[in-house]
Amino acid sequence: MEAAARSTLPELRRRPVGELPGVGPRIERALRELGISSVADLITHYPSRHEDLSNVRRISELRVGERATVLARVTGTRPVGRPVRGRPPGFSAQLYDGTGYIPAVVWGRHWLQGQLVPGTRVVVSGEVQRRYGIQLAARSIELVDGEDGQGGPHAGRFVPVYPSNRHIQPRRLRTLIHRALAGVGRILDPLPADLLARRDLPALHDAIHEVHFPHDRRSLAAALRRLVFQELFVIQAALAARKAHAARHERGRSHAGDGSLLNPYLQGLPFGFTGAQQRVLGEILADMRSERPMRRLLQGDVGSGKTAVAVAALLTAVEAGGQGALMAPTEVLAEQHYLSISGALRKLPVRVVLLTGSQGAARRREALKALRSGEAHIAVGTHALIQKGVGFRDLSLVVVDEQHRFGVGQRTTIREKGRTPDTLIMTATPIPRTLSLTLYGDLEVSVIDELPPGRKPVETRLVPLGRRHEAYGEVRRELERGRQAYVICPLVEESEALEEVRAAEELYEELRRDIFPERRVGLLHGRMRAQEKREVMSAFRAGRVEVLVATVVVEVGVDVPNASVIVIEGAERFGLSQLHQLRGRVCRGTHPPRCFLVADPATEEAGRRLEALVEHQDGFRLSEVDLAIRGEGTLFGSRQSGMPDLKVAKLLRDVEVLVEARREAFDLVARDPALRSPLHRPLRREIQEVLGRDVEWLFRE
Ligand code: ADP
Ligand code: MG
Repeated sequence: MEAAARSTLPELRRRPVGELPGVGPRIERALRELGISSVADLITHYPSRHEDLSNVRRISELRVGERATVLARVTGTRPVGRPVRGRPPGFSAQLYDGTGYIPAVVWGRHWLQGQLVPGTRVVVSGEVQRRYGIQLAARSIELVDGEDGQGGPHAGRFVPVYPSNRHIQPRRLRTLIHRALAGVGRILDPLPADLLARRDLPALHDAIHEVHFPHDRRSLAAALRRLVFQELFVIQAALAARKAHAARHERGRSHAGDGSLLNPYLQGLPFGFTGAQQRVLGEILADMRSERPMRRLLQGDVGSGKTAVAVAALLTAVEAGGQGALMAPTEVLAEQHYLSISGALRKLPVRVVLLTGSQGAARRREALKALRSGEAHIAVGTHALIQKGVGFRDLSLVVVDEQHRFGVGQRTTIREKGRTPDTLIMTATPIPRTLSLTLYGDLEVSVIDELPPGRKPVETRLVPLGRRHEAYGEVRRELERGRQAYVICPLVEESEALEEVRAAEELYEELRRDIFPERRVGLLHGRMRAQEKREVMSAFRAGRVEVLVATVVVEVGVDVPNASVIVIEGAERFGLSQLHQLRGRVCRGTHPPRCFLVADPATEEAGRRLEALVEHQDGFRLSEVDLAIRGEGTLFGSRQSGMPDLKVAKLLRDVEVLVEARREAFDLVARDPALRSPLHRPLRREIQEVLGRDVEWLFRE
């Protein structure tokens, strides 16, 4: 490749790595497996971490029983252990660091053995053990490079550790990166110079060099901060531009509600709205009155009363002559919403229809007809709402009960069923602020930060399977005091609906016959007909059923104040937010609520989830714990969030950077909404790259 004086990342993304000297077809294939296909990919293949060699121990000073990291050369390797199907279970690599020798034992990872040719330099961490002699049980073993720290690309006190694979050695990777960087010349900055100066951030060019070949801890930290800032800034600028574009171009519906439905609804409720609900409803109604299409996120903890607010908004849409749709992520939730909404509205001249995948053809046909003609005012459903063939007479408000299960794409599709309808997205599970700013950063946010009066913390206990009877003993005492109980069946994959029914029936039989023969026990599961469900629920509400055995059907909507205790069987199979939702079912009454999580968590992760629940009541706090436990990798990409994967930023760690980046990005877009200034052109190109090619429309005036 010819040495260019300057390049931009977008240009470098169009240059295949195969152009680089030293990259033949074999290396090209190996790089592709690491997700590297362009020169830009290569130079932004950042180290996963930097090993600080000042923490490294001398082999001669290692003590048995301690954890240690050594930097050494491999002098040879040999297999260890009795072969299984012709293959030894591990190998040992003899290490020498100038002060002494020690074998490092590695289990599995056989391909490493081939890479550890004599002379290879490695960083090994593990426990020093005494077996036949002293050995290092290697937890991690990384190839660093061949030089001894004098000059060249491999110098320095910080050794970058790269995500690598069996086909390419980290050392080779670094050499390629070094050469590529030398070849591309100055890398132009997509961020405006005044912003960098104000935030005291190094230039992109310097940051990239520094991350690969750090000089010292301080400049490395500054470089990382710069890369994190850029990653978050570009996303935020894209969100800001999208929002600015919508504000300039989209004309929505101005809902002029006259209160003819809303007022009787509010008056008919057995409670008054909390201050937070009133404020949030006010924000929503102001949006709906305005001609600008509403795009609002409604956040609030379980049981904070979001659904009640959403219904008020739906009624306002109907008052103004439009139609509303409420989309839920699962059939069970959709049905539950349908039941409670049509119940709450039964005295009003409003027709609500249900649309799900599994409903009968006749019922579906009728619902579709009523929506098209306008006879039906509100549709409640699942994904079935966004399928072809679903048409509305005048869909003007879309409510998405999301629980971060829908992608941006699906949210968009439902909006297309109307002419720029207002959109309200509810997150029933509070999500960490950083995540909501990233996923929903182009939306206005309303938060219900107050629970209805009288809600109490739920005393939560973890009960091992072997002591399950103790939990039921406690339940018995609650029943004797006149309270009621939920017993939740272990979660079954949604594809195994029949299995779920069978398991629920078994548990029901056990409780009815063996555990509470003297009590009235009822059963509720997703496969029952709506009529049956309604009957069981009304019996439970009236106290005729004292113990309700249920599947996750009760996750939302079910609300029986006299129910003060919940037992969740197989609790380790539920997600943290689901458990939090379930537990939310018993905090509505005046009695001290209790929750028993029956589980033998098989994994550490499951154990931590359950512990978190015992410790915290606050949904926001729990959502952060959840994020920390599950890791951030699962948040993007696989969930079709419509957002690019984060390469360097970490949502929990980088909250402050995110907030700064967001403020700067929105300021910049406020000054130059279509990013037309020549100073902002590089940023605009970067956004186009990150968001995909067809965002050109964003920047049209
Ligand atoms: P969310 O959707 O936020 O989980 P819901 O709207 O389902 O909450 O409300 C939870 C329960 O609390 C419902 O049974 C609802 O009737 C009740 N509720 C809602 N708002 C209030 C309020 N202001 N005071 C008392 N109860 C309320
Ligand atoms: Mg709800």
